[in-house]
Amino acid sequence: MSAAEAALKIAAAHPRQAVLVEPGRIELREYVAPRPGPGELLIQIRCALSCGTDLKTFRRGHPMWKLPMPFGHEFSGVVVEAGASVTAFKPGDAIMAAPTAPCGICFYCQHGQENLCDDAIGRMVHGGYADMLLLPAHVVARNAFIKPPDLPFEEAALLEPLSCVVHAQEMARAEKNETVVIIGGGAFGLLHMLALKAAGVREVVIVGRGAERLKWATELGADRVIDARSVDAVAEIASLNGGFGPDLVIECTGEVEGWQDALARVRRGGRVVFFGGCAAGTALSVDTRRMHYDNLTLMAPFHYRPRDVRRAYELLAGRALNAGAIVNARRRLGDLDEVFEMLERGTVLKCAVIP
Ligand SMILES: [Zn+2]
Ligand SMILES: [Zn+2]
Repeated sequence: MSAAEAALKIAAAHPRQAVLVEPGRIELREYVAPRPGPGELLIQIRCALSCGTDLKTFRRGHPMWKLPMPFGHEFSGVVVEAGASVTAFKPGDAIMAAPTAPCGICFYCQHGQENLCDDAIGRMVHGGYADMLLLPAHVVARNAFIKPPDLPFEEAALLEPLSCVVHAQEMARAEKNETVVIIGGGAFGLLHMLALKAAGVREVVIVGRGAERLKWATELGADRVIDARSVDAVAEIASLNGGFGPDLVIECTGEVEGWQDALARVRRGGRVVFFGGCAAGTALSVDTRRMHYDNLTLMAPFHYRPRDVRRAYELLAGRALNAGAIVNARRRLGDLDEVFEMLERGTVLKCAVIP
């Protein structure tokens, strides 16, 4: 028996699953892995990644999901058992998957806006922080892929966040000769930066807070970093692009101040992508004169469609991005409390949680 088979046997005997019991409290519980039904896959998790959504949910719950609930939605693993009628995957296959998939038959799906399908968010797979996970049939059918052997499980688990980035960038349509400013130096900001650089965009600038984050952005290949807290930040951004300011601004903080800032910093005739969702009840104020006479284009892409997931898969499989560099810490499943402490302190971009 190989080491991997031995590990699988142990995990199969006493599988554990992290449950968010209430805000701030995670419990590692034993649970009996269900047998996969028709179209489903039982997978052994090899890696789950921490995500900003996890941190928000950990702090204050989530309007869409009821606690207690299994936790974690960015993952990759190996098929343990395939349900009836699954032909694309078999036991032993390494796989990567997005945690959601659309229904394919509703109004939005019929209009090519599968990101707005009720199923896309409402039937999200939770439970990536675990030994085992049951992947439902709608996800297996549309948003699961065989992981290429040379792609690390850690990088494969970036499929979901990268799908969101791909969707946004398809709307934004950055040109190679443009200057793009990304507001927010977290994992999403840096994923945007990596995708833009891989697409050959000339100048990608990260505006972020804190020397450590900005150092990561520089190391990962940002053409320039600007400290949002410095007194010169506004002037520095205005001086970009030969003094015209950025052609495209991508907002990745999910704070209204960031949205307001993105709107203020973009050049005349430029585009703004509001990527980070803000808290409910917040509002953006737009100067109609500037909006019209400066000919601004504002976009607010949400979630992703199957075609975005496929494109994200191709980017990861082609090793086009070095996206794995975003993952800058590793912990075991039993150390989730520490993982969330690190996320709270902002001392990690994305943490790999290895069962
Ligand atoms: Zn996520
Ligand atoms: Zn639908």
